[in-house]
Amino acid sequence: MLTEYERVKKLDIGEMTDILEAYPTYNYFDLIDPDRNVIEVTGGYHICQSCGMEMRNCDFGKNADGSINMDYCKYCYPNGKFGKDETMEEMIESCIPFYVDERFKTAEEAHTYLAKLYPNLKRWKI
Ligand SMILES: [Zn+2]
Repeated sequence: MLTEYERVKKLDIGEMTDILEAYPTYNYFDLIDPDRNVIEVTGGYHICQSCGMEMRNCDFGKNADGSINMDYCKYCYPNGKFGKDETMEEMIESCIPFYVDERFKTAEEAHTYLAKLYPNLKRWKI
């Protein structure tokens, strides 16, 4: 989903929303084209609502009773609670290395992106 979002953004068709959540089945973002048509782009999988990682089935976290938690990944939420008590800023710092690759060349670019994404995630909202 994030990859698709970045790809569409690069096409520069028109104004775009951030990635939004249609709980609990899919993620989407809207693209408004020059004629003001709204195009909804959906993704079939979830991003972790704590670290922003795209999750496949094997990446989901676990609730205390062992059931799957689809909001968070297994790294953030391994057994019914967050593995680490940290602030959003600390989470951004620790995740930057995972985002500095072909998508972001520098830690600064990744930081800017995550600092925009994270406040929309469930763990950091409020
Ligand atoms: Zn996570």
